[in-house]
Amino acid sequence: MIETLVRQDIESLRFAQPYVPKKYLNLSQNEPIRKIIGDKYSAKYIGPHYYELKNKLAEFFGLKQENFTITNGANHGIDVCCRCFLGPGDCSALYDPTYGPYYMIPRINGKDVVRFQLDENFEPDWQQFKDSNAKMVFIANPGNPTGNLLSLKKIEEGLETGKVVVVDEAYAEFTDVTAIDLIGNYENLVVLRTFSKVWALPGARVGYIVANEKTSDYLELSHIPYHMANPSLKLAYDVIDHKEDMERLVKETVNIREDLRIGLQALGLYVYPSYTNFLLVKFPEQINANTIFQKLCENDICVNNVSGQAGIENCLRISVGLQEENAMFLAVLKKLLETHI
Ligand code: PMP
Repeated sequence: MIETLVRQDIESLRFAQPYVPKKYLNLSQNEPIRKIIGDKYSAKYIGPHYYELKNKLAEFFGLKQENFTITNGANHGIDVCCRCFLGPGDCSALYDPTYGPYYMIPRINGKDVVRFQLDENFEPDWQQFKDSNAKMVFIANPGNPTGNLLSLKKIEEGLETGKVVVVDEAYAEFTDVTAIDLIGNYENLVVLRTFSKVWALPGARVGYIVANEKTSDYLELSHIPYHMANPSLKLAYDVIDHKEDMERLVKETVNIREDLRIGLQALGLYVYPSYTNFLLVKFPEQINANTIFQKLCENDICVNNVSGQAGIENCLRISVGLQEENAMFLAVLKKLLETHI
């Protein structure tokens, strides 16, 4: 079924891969003959398939290495999906309010984007996607900037459209819900993951796509060869051994997030439920979130101004910081609110 969803010329991207000998002489890659600096740095290419990291992820999830595609962060995963599924004239879809690159990255690829609106519970009406000419939809679960969590049942309803559903799980480790559980049942499901959030490696730019083996085979054809940097691969490979530390970081973040929620509520603000490391905050009508955002900037405090987006008008999105950073933020916000009311 996935053959009918990938771009039509996908098979023409199956270029012959170089044979890379494991032990004996490899004089095929025009690699340098030795290092110039340090033992930490390899003078060899890794790739193009990154089997080591894939195997480690496969072990972590109880899947096969064939279920994985390694990307430069989840953003690159979005790009790989566009290249894999969108041929000439094809377009993708999103449900606002959502993560900006679901619009930006298809557009960079020269594709149109159909925009629908999430309902008042931040849930998609999949019928709109089904009835549209869009071939693929991007949905973040948990949502960004909404912070909410869709059930797997809701995700399955999207998959029943028979079109491609890309579930961006950048924050999934903050929940116990993952669409990865569904990849065996749906070839049209693509799950994006990242080492940027709970694995605390945003600068390494490593992510991965999890999908059915058949789908992964096509995704693997859809990125440039040798796109991953060796030091980043190594960092990702090593951090997977620290699952308990990762889980501790998640718990710590959630505790601090809930303290921040209490602090914001004490200022009379509405704080949406969150399954992430940020909070979406709604300001009362008499207070203009945009003005608050500007005033925070003047105080050298940066939050995300989402106040202009339909469905989350007059809201700001606050990332969870350290306790002391949140305390500083709350103190400044309190002063601003006092002078505004
Ligand atoms: N998806 C979502 C929903 C995000 O919030 C983010 C980062 N803010 C990303 C993807 C990008 O992640 P990465 O750093 O892995 O590109």
